[in-house]
Amino acid sequence: MGYREIVFAGIIGAAFAAGVLASREPALRWYYQAGADQPTVVLFVMDTVRADHLSECGYERPTSPTLSVLRESGASVRCDAIAPSSWTVPSHASMFTGLHPADHGTHFVSVGEDVDLSGPVRPLPQDAVTIAERFQDRGYQTVLVSSNRLVSSATGLDQGFDLTWSGGGLSAMDVVEILRRFVRGSLDPERPLFLVLNVMDAHGPYPTVPPGVGWVPERGPAKADEPVLNDIERLVDVYDYGIFLDDTALAAALYVLRGHGWTDQGLRLVVVSDHGEFLGEHGLYSHTTTTYEPVVTVPLVYYEEPGPTPPILGDRPSLLEAHSLLLDGTSEGYRRLSATFAGRGLNDVEGTTDSMWVAEWHDSQKYVWHHGEYSAVDLQADPEEMSPVGVSVTEVGEVLPAYLHQMQESGQASPEDHVDEALIKQLKEMGYIE
Ligand SMILES: [Zn+2]
Repeated sequence: MGYREIVFAGIIGAAFAAGVLASREPALRWYYQAGADQPTVVLFVMDTVRADHLSECGYERPTSPTLSVLRESGASVRCDAIAPSSWTVPSHASMFTGLHPADHGTHFVSVGEDVDLSGPVRPLPQDAVTIAERFQDRGYQTVLVSSNRLVSSATGLDQGFDLTWSGGGLSAMDVVEILRRFVRGSLDPERPLFLVLNVMDAHGPYPTVPPGVGWVPERGPAKADEPVLNDIERLVDVYDYGIFLDDTALAAALYVLRGHGWTDQGLRLVVVSDHGEFLGEHGLYSHTTTTYEPVVTVPLVYYEEPGPTPPILGDRPSLLEAHSLLLDGTSEGYRRLSATFAGRGLNDVEGTTDSMWVAEWHDSQKYVWHHGEYSAVDLQADPEEMSPVGVSVTEVGEVLPAYLHQMQESGQASPEDHVDEALIKQLKEMGYIE
């Protein structure tokens, strides 16, 4: 994003914060009343945003002014939602289907006999019913614009969308610009709109922080031999700034919809992240391999216009609630489970052959299975999960062992699985398979 775009984003953000959101009369009016007589429904995914780095969730830097405006306008905001997985593909598949990863099966599958190596990602099965298809059945036109290329036809996550734009390298404001072009040229004003936007400025490679951002200190240019991942302060700076750009893009996207009449018949908005990010906790970076809190605790924001917005029910809601909130404005009470299965050679920092993690939450108690053992941690007493205690299977209850078994089954390759030859070749070249 260039300087002019940032200035534009700032102006949009300021206009938004000044009351554009709350106003029933948009600042700009298009020439038709869009959306027939149904509300516009929007899922806005801020990829890789952990809840505790949002100012709306108590973080000291002003990373999420738009979310705060939404809350002041009546939105229900949760900062403690549980992502069903720690990476993009299974988590989006869960939001799109209302199913946990072991049920939709869209994650890495093992290759080889020992469940020790991940290769292809199993795409979403065609017989899965997606939320986009549900909205199509209701007469909606369905649109997906994603800066994350994994949310695309490559993974089947485009299933049910009439109009899709997914590509790597798109900034959050690029996504808004594509939305603006769709709104001006491609949408049918006679049909209501279901829209999914994915922005990932908080996902590496990070945007450059321009000079003059008051809350990011001037640290000088990074040394060539000092990659950002080895400098946690710099990493946090660029990560936080990426969150701010995502939040600004949310304001801009709403401004585009509002200015073209796409909220005149009402707006149902859900803002989430699909998973979090490690910023050095447990000596880790990135996100794919565990169920530790920094990678699975995400925001879940729900807003209805006209209001009032019903509250999201339950502590530690599953991110799957996004599915029922979008469909019906209700909290479903999905199971508080998370599972991840990344595989050897794909950020498996421990270098083991057993990379599956499965977790369940009971109030502040969190049970985890990993390395063939169950452990428990009280997140109130030990929020950083430094001292988990080994527990027996009987102490864990019935849900987690059953889900673990299901996850192990769904991680096995089946004859129907499509093996991505290019990926297999790459794995061979890297020495992961012979
Ligand atoms: Zn993601």
